Amino acid sequence: METTKYLLNETALPKRWYNIQADLPSPAPPYLNPGTMEPLGPEDLAPLFPMELIMQEVSQDRYIDIPQEVLEIYRLWRPTPLYRAHGLEAAIGTRSRIFYKYEGVSPAGSHKPNTSVAQAFYNKKEGRTRIATETGAGQWGSALAFACELMGLECMVYMVRVSYEQKPFRRSMIHTWGAEVVASPSDTTNTGRAILENHPEMNSGSLGIAISEAVEDAANRDDTAYSLGSVLNHVLMHQTVIGEEAIEQMKMAGAYPDVVIGCVGGGSNFAGIAFPFMRDKIAGKEIDFLAVEPAACPTLTHGIYTYDYGDTAKLAPVAAMHTLGHDFVPESIHAGGLRYHGMAPLVSHALQLGLIRAEAYLQNDIFASAITFARSEGIIPAPESAHAIHGAITTAKKADEEGVEKTILFNLSGHGHFDMAAYDNYLAGKLVDVAFDEAQMGRALKAIESLPKPA
Ligand SMILES: *Cc1c(COP(=O)(O)O)cnc(C)c1O
Repeated sequence: METTKYLLNETALPKRWYNIQADLPSPAPPYLNPGTMEPLGPEDLAPLFPMELIMQEVSQDRYIDIPQEVLEIYRLWRPTPLYRAHGLEAAIGTRSRIFYKYEGVSPAGSHKPNTSVAQAFYNKKEGRTRIATETGAGQWGSALAFACELMGLECMVYMVRVSYEQKPFRRSMIHTWGAEVVASPSDTTNTGRAILENHPEMNSGSLGIAISEAVEDAANRDDTAYSLGSVLNHVLMHQTVIGEEAIEQMKMAGAYPDVVIGCVGGGSNFAGIAFPFMRDKIAGKEIDFLAVEPAACPTLTHGIYTYDYGDTAKLAPVAAMHTLGHDFVPESIHAGGLRYHGMAPLVSHALQLGLIRAEAYLQNDIFASAITFARSEGIIPAPESAHAIHGAITTAKKADEEGVEKTILFNLSGHGHFDMAAYDNYLAGKLVDVAFDEAQMGRALKAIESLPKPA
C-alpha cells in the first residue's frame, strides 16, 4: 500500500483562529434571552462564560490571535496529519482523489481539545476555578477534563445516564484526568431532582437535560463557569485550526478540494474544516460543502429553521437554528456524539444561505463504510467520523457514475477505540437501523410554535 502523509512543521501551526462572521453575506440572527425573548447582551451571558469567550461569540473580527499558552498545549498533537486515502480509493475503485485530515491524534482522541484547551485557558485567566459541563457519549467530558487538568481547574461533568452506564471507559478517562462525573439526571441539581421525581420515563437522560444541569450548576456558583463542546460560535471558531492547517497541506499536495465533508452533531468539527475553505466560496469559488448527519437525528435535513431552546429546562440561550424541537430525544444510536436536537447557528445559517448542503445516512451503511476504511487505511474511525467517510465514498461513487474526477476532502474527527462494542454489534449483524420518529418531531415542534421566528 502506498502511503502519502502531508505533515506540517510545528512552525506552521496556525497562530490565529478564523471567524467566518466577518465574511458572511448576512449576519446570523442574535441569541435571545430564554426568559424575556429579547436579544441577549454580553451581560446576560456573564454568569455562564468568561468575557473573552462572550466577545469572541459576537466578534466581527476576521481573525483572533491564539494565546501563547493555548498554542503550547496544541503543540502536544498539532499540526495534525493530512492523508491521501490511496487505500480507500483503491478499495472502492474510484477515479476521484480522497484526502482526510485526522484529528484522532489528540490525547482525548478527537477534535474536541481544540476548543476545550482554549475555553479552560480563558476561564482560568478570568479567575474561575471550576467548570461544569455536560457530555453525551463522553468525548466532550473527557476532552474538557484533559484541558482543565492541564490548566489547573476543577471540572464537573454531567454525563447522560445511558452513556454513563454503557461507556464506562470514557468515565474512566474523565476520572484519570482528575475530573468529577455524575450520571444525569442527577440528584445534585434542581433540574435533575425534578426529573427524577416527576418524569421517571426520562431517567435515562438526554443531552438537553444534562446541559440544563450543567448550566444550573454554573449559574449558582461564582467560582464556576459553564462550557459547551459544540454549537456556539466561539467553539466553531476554535476548531478552524483544522481547516487552516488543511489549506496548507492541500497546497503541499498540489490540490484543492471540490468537495469538503464533515459529520455534524452540534456542527463544530464540520465548521472547523469547512469554514476556512468557505472564505473562498463566499469570494466566488465553486466548492461543495457536505454536512453528514444520522438518519435517526436528521436536524439539517428534516428539522425546521426557527428559534429554539438549547436545553430541556430552558435555561440556556435561545438560538436561531435547525432543530427537531428541544423535547425531541433521538433513538439511541452508536454515533452518540451526533444526537443533539439542534445545530450550530452558524452552520444552520450557512445552510439557509445555500453555502452548504446536508445528507442523512443509516447506521448500518455508516458502519459498512467504517469497516471499508479500517481495512484500507488502517485507522478505526469513531462512528461519528464514519458518517464523513460514508459521505466521501458516496460522493466518489457518484462522481464515477457521472464520469467526473473529484478532489474530496473530509475530516476524520476521531478514532473509535472506545466504540468497539458498536463494532462488535455491527460485525455480529445485530445493529438495527432505527427509523426517524416523525411523530415525535411533530410534537416537539408543536411545543415551540409560539417562539419567535428568525427574520
Ligand atoms: C463530539 C464528536 C462529534 C460531533 O460533534 P460536532 O460538534 O458536530 O463536531 C463528531 N466526531 C467526534 C469524534 C466527536 O467526538
